[in-house]
Amino acid sequence: MKILRWLIFDADGTLFNYEAAEEIALGRTFRAFSIPDTLQNHELYRKFNSALWDRFELGLVTSVKLRELRFERLLKAIGIDADPQALSTRYLQELGNLAPLLPGAREIVAELAPDYGLVLATNGISDVQRRRLALSGLERFFEAVVISDEIGVAKPHGAYFDELFRRIGEPSRRRAMIIGDKLSSDIAGGVRAGIRTCWFNPSGEACSDEIQPEFEISDFRGLRAILRRIELG
Ligand SMILES: [Mg+2]
Repeated sequence: MKILRWLIFDADGTLFNYEAAEEIALGRTFRAFSIPDTLQNHELYRKFNSALWDRFELGLVTSVKLRELRFERLLKAIGIDADPQALSTRYLQELGNLAPLLPGAREIVAELAPDYGLVLATNGISDVQRRRLALSGLERFFEAVVISDEIGVAKPHGAYFDELFRRIGEPSRRRAMIIGDKLSSDIAGGVRAGIRTCWFNPSGEACSDEIQPEFEISDFRGLRAILRRIELG
């Protein structure tokens, strides 16, 4: 019997090239509303967006509020009068049509699916993530897809992982490993939930003192090596 049975993949920044999708969707949205499609405006948006997602993980803002607030803050910062709600709607439409994958993501998912139960675990907006997953062609490889927006709780919270495990029949948590790019949601959540953790860190970020992943990889070759190591004991 395999030691590991379940592999829980984060979506954005782990399998999906979220940065590329975001850049294209944002550019299209800006141009549709006559907002200068400049690097500076993209960076400003990313700054507001990332600060709001941090607050979301802490439970300080809802995902519905976040969607609009990030554009409200951007518009205020650049002094443009437009409807943040309309921008948000357009952006999510554009984003849902874009599902570029990171190098090797398709191959690793197809390769592992016969041997493991694969779960997609994402903090995201339901219809956007569902559309992107369908577009990517990866949907059929996953036994469960757990989207924070659909269950009302997000990674890193224990209740998110409780629901995820409920959906796959409550296997032993030591037989599961989460693979994700974000320490504060994927790894912190995994550690707290008592599952094995693998930090996907392609850009070589420094690890934090408080959150220690069991494994760290910079690409999917690294994941194959870890899986072999675990099975060999
Ligand atoms: Mg991620």
